[in-house]
Amino acid sequence: MRTLIKNGTVVTASDQYKGDVLVEDEKITVIGSSLEMQADKTIDASGKYVLPGGIDVHTHMDMPFGGTTSADDFESGTVAAAFGGTTAIVDFAIQYRGQTLHHAMETWAKKAEGRAAIDYGFHMIITELTDQVELEMDALVRQGITSFKLFMAYPGVFMLDDASIFKALMRTGKNGGTICMHAENGGVIDVLVQRALAEGKTAPKYHALTRPARAEAEATHRAIALAEIADVPIYIVHLSAAEALEMVTEARDRGLPAFAETCPQYLFLSYDNYEEPGFEGAKYVMSPPLRDQAKQSALWRGLAFNDLQCISTDHCPFCMKEQKELGRNDFSKIPNGAPGVETRMSLVYDGGVRTGRITLNRFVELTSTSPAKIFGLFPRKGTIAPGSDADIVVFDPNRKLTLSAKTLHMKVDYNPYEGREVTGATDTVLSRGRVVIENGAFVGRKGSGSFVKRSTR
Ligand SMILES: [Zn+2]
Repeated sequence: MRTLIKNGTVVTASDQYKGDVLVEDEKITVIGSSLEMQADKTIDASGKYVLPGGIDVHTHMDMPFGGTTSADDFESGTVAAAFGGTTAIVDFAIQYRGQTLHHAMETWAKKAEGRAAIDYGFHMIITELTDQVELEMDALVRQGITSFKLFMAYPGVFMLDDASIFKALMRTGKNGGTICMHAENGGVIDVLVQRALAEGKTAPKYHALTRPARAEAEATHRAIALAEIADVPIYIVHLSAAEALEMVTEARDRGLPAFAETCPQYLFLSYDNYEEPGFEGAKYVMSPPLRDQAKQSALWRGLAFNDLQCISTDHCPFCMKEQKELGRNDFSKIPNGAPGVETRMSLVYDGGVRTGRITLNRFVELTSTSPAKIFGLFPRKGTIAPGSDADIVVFDPNRKLTLSAKTLHMKVDYNPYEGREVTGATDTVLSRGRVVIENGAFVGRKGSGSFVKRSTR
């Protein structure tokens, strides 16, 4: 099967040029100007960008949380991702206490197999670190699950103590894996939450008011310090606070391998959303919470100057009806998370590239190349080059899109950006050479996405 993408502007993290791209079976084989090869299918990309497919290294499909389960499974979630120009996700498998990592891996493999429409990998969340689990970490790295997520928040559920965190960090120094950290001081937050509830403060906004930016900054600093002592790299997930970014910047200025991602919600939404009337603020209950709008420019600066290396989504949708509603009388019972896997590329293009905050190359780097490099997918994914997987997005920089739960494909009954108009939209999407999105329709097949083994550092 040969597909020729003609007359587009190829954009990678480093280059931008007019060119044609030939795809044979699953791979990109030739890039050149005015290619005239015979092809089974020709895609005209005139006036459009030809981008490496987006890579979202932070999603939660089919994830149990707070007595309910995230609304997208691996089918609906990966189809929505493809609509939005994302061709690979790295989701999180969860080891619950008393379970092996192997059991967690099998559980999540079953959730994805036969459902995912694009390629996927897994990070492993560790909630209990025994000697046996340390050995299993090595085994998982060999099986292509090369990153582990630890929590400094959610005491009693996910949180690990500093000694366990330190041991896990040391282990990755030997096995070549990477630790991803949810950095918030869970102990402090728990005290603030209990105090607020005792005072009758139950509205959604208290979710944010009990998770101060300094609690994120403290944990970020501590995580980086522990990694420095262990002499290993560290990756901070969903960084939201400018105060936390200062910690990452300070570490990087000292030459430490500290990395961090932020998410569109921290760039385009803010604390003000929690002040929406009634229970509407629940739409934005996620951890860390949305921050002050005035601090967003610091995140953009971090993205532009490489103190932040990735933009992922933390896609973890819960419907307002029956799910977010669980916390109608108690903000601490609102399931944490929001939809985002489908809207990332358009939001960041519109609000980042078109406004001049980041360059077009940097957009590709933040949404595809850099996540691929940090998480062991590059150069198989994350760029347009001969030999790379044909995960390709034909992106129309001029097409306008109005974001709405009614027209988006995520299986959730609201959208945090409802009514927002963005310019820049995904037209055609190839996943390993197969066209999966065309003319506004999903034309792929559920189950055709594969588990991708990722390499070590
Ligand atoms: Zn998450």
